Amino acid sequence: MAGPQAAGAVPSSQLDDVQRSVIATDSHTLLLGPAGTGKSTALVHATAALADRWGAGCVVGVASDRTAARSWQGQVAPLVDGAVPPITTLAALAVDLVAGAAPAADTDEAPRVLTGPEQELRVRELLDGTLTTAGNEVEWPPEWKPALPTRSFARVLRRCLAQARRTGWDPRDLRAAAVAANDPGWAAVADFLAEYLDVLDWEGAIDYAELGVRALRAVTLAPPTTPLVVILDDAQHLDPVQAQLVTTLTGRGGLLVAAADPDQCMASYRGADLAALTALADTCQVRRANRVYRGGSAGRDARRNLLGSRWYAGLPAEVGLGYRTPAVVHEAVGTQLVAVEFDDPVAQALHLADRLRAAHRDGIPWRDMAVLVTSPAREMAPLVRGLAQAHIPLHVPTTDVPLAAQPAVATLVAAAEVVLDGGSDPASWKDLVCSDMMGLPPREWRALLRVSERRSRSVADLWRDPLAASEFPEAGPALRVLTALDRRLDRARRRHLSGGTPAEVLWDLWHGGDDVWPERLRRRALTTGEGAVAAGRDLDSVIQLFRLAERAPERWGGQRGLRSLLDEIDHHEIAAEPDLKAASRSDSVSVLSLHRSPGHSWPLVVVTGLTEAAWTATDSIGLIDPGRLTADTLLPMAPRRAAAERRRLLTMALGRASRQLILCAAGGADDPPTALLADAGITIRRVVGRPAAPQTPLDLILRARSEMVGHGSAETAARSALQRLGALRDTTGAPVCPGADPRRWPGVADWSIGPVPLRRPDRPLSLSASGVALLDECPLRWLLQREARGDRTTSPAADFGLMVHEGAALLVREPDTDPRALVDRLWSPSGYDASWYEAREQDMAALALRRAAAWLATRPVPVLAEHPIDQILAAGSDLVRVRGSVDVVEVHPEHVLVWDHKTRRSVASTSDSSHSVQLGIYQWALQEALGRPAEGAGLVHLCVAAGTKEPDLPKVREQPPLSDRADWIGQVVTDAAAAIRAEQFRPRPGAGCRTCPFQSSCPAQGGGS
Ligand code: SF4
Repeated sequence: MAGPQAAGAVPSSQLDDVQRSVIATDSHTLLLGPAGTGKSTALVHATAALADRWGAGCVVGVASDRTAARSWQGQVAPLVDGAVPPITTLAALAVDLVAGAAPAADTDEAPRVLTGPEQELRVRELLDGTLTTAGNEVEWPPEWKPALPTRSFARVLRRCLAQARRTGWDPRDLRAAAVAANDPGWAAVADFLAEYLDVLDWEGAIDYAELGVRALRAVTLAPPTTPLVVILDDAQHLDPVQAQLVTTLTGRGGLLVAAADPDQCMASYRGADLAALTALADTCQVRRANRVYRGGSAGRDARRNLLGSRWYAGLPAEVGLGYRTPAVVHEAVGTQLVAVEFDDPVAQALHLADRLRAAHRDGIPWRDMAVLVTSPAREMAPLVRGLAQAHIPLHVPTTDVPLAAQPAVATLVAAAEVVLDGGSDPASWKDLVCSDMMGLPPREWRALLRVSERRSRSVADLWRDPLAASEFPEAGPALRVLTALDRRLDRARRRHLSGGTPAEVLWDLWHGGDDVWPERLRRRALTTGEGAVAAGRDLDSVIQLFRLAERAPERWGGQRGLRSLLDEIDHHEIAAEPDLKAASRSDSVSVLSLHRSPGHSWPLVVVTGLTEAAWTATDSIGLIDPGRLTADTLLPMAPRRAAAERRRLLTMALGRASRQLILCAAGGADDPPTALLADAGITIRRVVGRPAAPQTPLDLILRARSEMVGHGSAETAARSALQRLGALRDTTGAPVCPGADPRRWPGVADWSIGPVPLRRPDRPLSLSASGVALLDECPLRWLLQREARGDRTTSPAADFGLMVHEGAALLVREPDTDPRALVDRLWSPSGYDASWYEAREQDMAALALRRAAAWLATRPVPVLAEHPIDQILAAGSDLVRVRGSVDVVEVHPEHVLVWDHKTRRSVASTSDSSHSVQLGIYQWALQEALGRPAEGAGLVHLCVAAGTKEPDLPKVREQPPLSDRADWIGQVVTDAAAAIRAEQFRPRPGAGCRTCPFQSSCPAQGGGS
């Protein structure tokens, strides 16, 4: 069945003889044909014709998934005069059959069907029980014990259980077969199956495999009272039980009309089995589609080369003759097939962006394009990042990430937990206030914590104090957001207590009374780039959450519904559904796994990951292989079918496009393109480097700018292109490409004098010690970073540093505090891409604080932490007021020592520490303020061990007393003051350029010039 681009049905005048014979059939018929041979079209017309002859109530269409069912129904509707027959999926049909049989079976209600993730959870829970409960009846082989608690074992065990049910094994027979084969592993699986079925029975639940078995039993016991017509597409996806179900349903005077392509049968695809197709063929008249409409001879020949002339035992041999060489109907509009090898994934993403954009310019809507990735885990992230950065609108179904892990859903679930628990301590709301829902920067939250620590007042106390926000302005933003969050939670809580459904409670949390969050996400999703992709994914996941929430009352009822819903989301790893319909609604390119694409097609398809490693990676099954279990026996070893399946998978990929198919490999020299491409007769073209053409509007502007600068004031094509770009306005009148205006370009204006002095000349210059250090390092960077505040980005590293400084100061006041507990209390850095990395950073923070505590214990006198300084220093003829705080001051009877904590992972050189401007100013300011000499200072590197013999002490680099040297620090301060007064901020390239955020616009750097 066609995918998102499917439009109306093909007119009946254009049908071929084979299609007509299928439509006119009055006996069981199976139409076999490769992709694009019009099988689905024949079924669409057959549905309308059979509804006419038999009545719509007697006809049911069965598609491979809901998206295909919707498309099928849409095409049938215009062809029938009366009611449209229902088009459904086999699972939905089985649910109806089982539900219909429930009263006859004397049960109160139909069993609940577990979703895949729910089933996996049950398996994991039971597995856990077999490991921890003494005297349980499952005896796993001792050598399997290490693997049993792993998630991958639970997954493969789940497949074994499904295979056992699909092939009709009951636990006792399976155990007997395993004992006869002297296979203790499968004997344990049989015992586990017995326990699993008992538990599900007790819960009144069944899984998908059991659903098929029950539906078959229901139909066998009570066949349909009126003959039924079943029209079945993609029959190659059937398992044996499903095949039996459809033949039984249509057995007594009914009619079965099915279509399939055995070349696209992949056994791993939900238990699909060629044996099921051959069983179906035994009951049908088998016809072969002999004309191909989608794609031209290139795709057809590639498929034939790939699979050769081998045919399938059990399917009529005469159908196999010429099966893979159907006549091409539209060679002129046939699929253009290219295979390309790129240097690496980044080059691949850039080139693909180029090609997709070119296709869009040629009139192909974005929604008619798809990128299918072979290995989502490896390829998806860099590909999506690259395409999104090149401003290609993308739709990435949230299929492979658990719903609970989607950021927006995680936030709503956390808020709903607070609603349920009735938690009212705002100190525990950090994750919520700093989430996208409330939007508070973590920095502001830490400011509140600092006020709380310093004033010895709890966060709750500050929040309840109406004067706190004005008394402690730095805590104001966080206190205001806490109040807004409390309103949101309170509204949801009242809804919950008054009997609101889970969906209503979640709606109150989502909507928040002002719609700011949903609106923000919606606006972001309408832009382009990575942010847009993430926002689109957030919105998709929230839609799925509400779908689940709406079903909650019927599943659990009452107020228990919300608790049960949260448990299900939290524990079950529910993956969002592949919503191809959403992709078709928004004009965007679908990016999805190749394994999820059967049954769908698009005019332009890109398939990535066609490398040897990706395509020869064995489907390692591990300890137990469900493939060993057939309907009759437990085989000693599974048949080797991986190679044949790979060929069929590539055949399936070759049939997804109707106009353009681009096959890509980007594994580099170590991982060449798969040999299957050569077997298919496809020539691979090597594309070296990255595209020369501009990829984004910004690239275009930069190129035009560079050309224009090279030509001076001459009238060039670049100049006029920039003028045209600069004149573009959006619907609100705002410029579409503001960067096209030369007045906005950095580094092109002459030196300018400000209308008012930067600092009032009649007052001392106010500077921090670090500000003087930065001015000394590079005046331009100081201007851009400190004065213009051109770098407001926050990074995990900066947050880490602030947290460790805060913790070290607390250790001075509370020396008995456990450093690890301090980290747990203060940790709030965000922005880490991976949780393992964040955990490692937390460990490093704890280690740094342990070193801080150990070092403090070595100090001979009590020290002051975060000691404030506010001192006026003479800078030549000028005055500089230095303000700030010193990490640690050691006050001895006759002198002071100054220490500064550092959280870098590298150690300052001896020369750097002795010339540290910051330490020098601290020494100078403190001896002026305290009236006693500073006898030296030091940098305390908390993240670096003092040495291999002292891993728990920090590395310390010292600075000699100021009295030991000439007045170098006085000169530094004088020069800094002079630069500000003269307003001359020249770039000063040096070691700091490496970390300078203004490199790209700095006139002293190549790029900026
Ligand atoms: S790149 Fe180097 S020279 Fe340029 S502003 Fe930054 S620190 Fe200064």
